[in-house]
Amino acid sequence: METDAIVLDCSDHGESDVIVTLFSQDEGRVTAIAKGAKKSLRRFVNKLELFSFLHIVCTRKAGRSLVFLAEADLHTSFINIRKNLELYTIASVIREFLLVGIREEGPEENIFRLSLWSLHNLDLLQQPRAILSLFLIRFFEHVGYRPDFEICSKCANQVLPERTYSFDPSGGRIICSGCSGGSTRGIALSHGTIKLLRSAQDLPLERLHRLKISGTILQETHTILNAYGRHLFQRDIVSWKFIQVHGRSYP
Ligand SMILES: [Zn+2]
Repeated sequence: METDAIVLDCSDHGESDVIVTLFSQDEGRVTAIAKGAKKSLRRFVNKLELFSFLHIVCTRKAGRSLVFLAEADLHTSFINIRKNLELYTIASVIREFLLVGIREEGPEENIFRLSLWSLHNLDLLQQPRAILSLFLIRFFEHVGYRPDFEICSKCANQVLPERTYSFDPSGGRIICSGCSGGSTRGIALSHGTIKLLRSAQDLPLERLHRLKISGTILQETHTILNAYGRHLFQRDIVSWKFIQVHGRSYP
């Protein structure tokens, strides 16, 4: 197999080998062993690092599931992500979602392109917190759980300016104030956030970076996407709490 891949995880294996988890363009998630990687510095040095974007050659012994990483060439190591704590933390949230969300059953072209788009934009320092929101709204759709911000899930009316709305993370849907009867279940979200999220779902990937998100809208998107992700995968994404620590104010 010869393909492009993003490094999602790396761990030492024995004296000299490294086990690497890759998100490959052609085969989705791949776990490969890099024989002698700790000794053979020339072949793999500075390549098997988290988030590195590689061109790889792998071999697979017939009848065995184990994949051997034969060669790796660096497209980019996203050096700014590696040097900047905030970027690294955001990329770590993306990485955790990829590790729980992608499978070994074949290519996931949309998620692969979205992941590369996100890493490139983070590396360019383009509104990094907004990139996280944009990644997640598209990621949930690509794994089959597109949240619905078009209509109230109870009365099925289109979003109306005179009503307020809350998001129900257990269903990925919104409920209007007319239907919630003043109850405080769900997470309040403003009309500006609803509008933004709908645009983020519909824009082509090439134009997604044009959506600017800041202030209250950014904060609301993080809150609901975090809650929705936790519900979908039934686990906490550990790196989120570091974003909250570093990000009390949302510029
Ligand atoms: Zn309603």
